[in-house]
Amino acid sequence: MKLLCADCRKEAAMGTLGRCGACDGILRPEYPDEVVAVLATVAPGPGIDRYRPLFPVTAPLPFLGEGDTPLLPSARLGRTLGLERLLFKNEGLNPSGAFKDRAGATMVALALDAGAKGLVTVSSGNTATAAATYCAAAGLRCLILLEPGNPPAKLRQALAMGAKVLPVEGVYAHGPDGTRDIIFGVAEGLGYYPAFVWAPVNPYILEGIKSVSYEIAARLPGAPDVLVCPVGGGDMLTAQWRGYLELQRAGVIDRLPRMVGVQSVAAPPLLEAFRNGDARVTPLPYARSRISGINVPFTGEHALAAVRASGGVVAGIADEDAFEIQRRLGAEEGIWVEPASAAPVAALPGLLAEGHIGSHETVVCLLSGAGFKDALLAADMADAVSARPPLPFDVEAVVSAALA
Ligand SMILES: [Zn+2]
Repeated sequence: MKLLCADCRKEAAMGTLGRCGACDGILRPEYPDEVVAVLATVAPGPGIDRYRPLFPVTAPLPFLGEGDTPLLPSARLGRTLGLERLLFKNEGLNPSGAFKDRAGATMVALALDAGAKGLVTVSSGNTATAAATYCAAAGLRCLILLEPGNPPAKLRQALAMGAKVLPVEGVYAHGPDGTRDIIFGVAEGLGYYPAFVWAPVNPYILEGIKSVSYEIAARLPGAPDVLVCPVGGGDMLTAQWRGYLELQRAGVIDRLPRMVGVQSVAAPPLLEAFRNGDARVTPLPYARSRISGINVPFTGEHALAAVRASGGVVAGIADEDAFEIQRRLGAEEGIWVEPASAAPVAALPGLLAEGHIGSHETVVCLLSGAGFKDALLAADMADAVSARPPLPFDVEAVVSAALA
């Protein structure tokens, strides 16, 4: 296994953190053919430790039932939107309720390999809960620097798993270099592993997230025509692309999907870079989306490169459209997701209208996290029900109210 710069291909020592020392590019592990070939023989199932040869770790990944989440054909929504074959990869069914559990298991193995007594990460929510969950499973200490103002359910989850959570004002607002510096400094001060889930800071953690693509390829089977992902920092989309490239090298798939990244127009660093044809993604001075998880002011250029290499596109959606699709995924499909997971589905009408996807294509939307994570919409609906005076204990009254 080697650690190579994605831009200048210069090799760095395994264990290096941050960007390429020569050109500032993003570093990534690269695996020899004989390692990648195991993808042809590993069957999917619970636990992602089965793919460990393709992760940059030697310690076993702790197991809590993560991975092998269902790949569900859309029952109604796909047809309504004009798609014949729409599928949902429901990552909300991971142990802490989000795809980040794959990163959580990986970061814990990395911390164990480094001999650290704990790890520190910065999170807008789902990383915090995954880190806390897997640290608890592995007996490691967990420190979370939390962006204030995030959904209370995510904070409760991290605390329930025994993590130390410190709200830090503007933990993202000082820009990506500032976030990197505080996490490296705190990690050094405490003897912890710096487990920030963003490849320009930690090039290793996203490797665990690749396992989503292995499972989709095994269950579909093959590659979808299009994979649609919500995008914050960009690690999830990039990890999927790396996974499909490896599956192709291993001979498991014979063609690659087009990668579609979706951001809120209120927090659009990748969207702007894609539309402007930029080589790098410029961090924004703000992120004003109400969609937690993708309300991030910086995206790595690794995601931009993956979208372009795949022939894909970056789409922007309005926050309201994601909330409406969140409601419909629940009411029409029986899948309760957080708003960030509704974003890829909310982008489908625009992608169809602009010809970026065809109605006959196999489209997989990656639903990143469960509805209980960010339940504002359901909380509003529940408040409205609770505020109603109860009906009398009477059949006729209940039937007429049900029909109203
Ligand atoms: Zn370089």
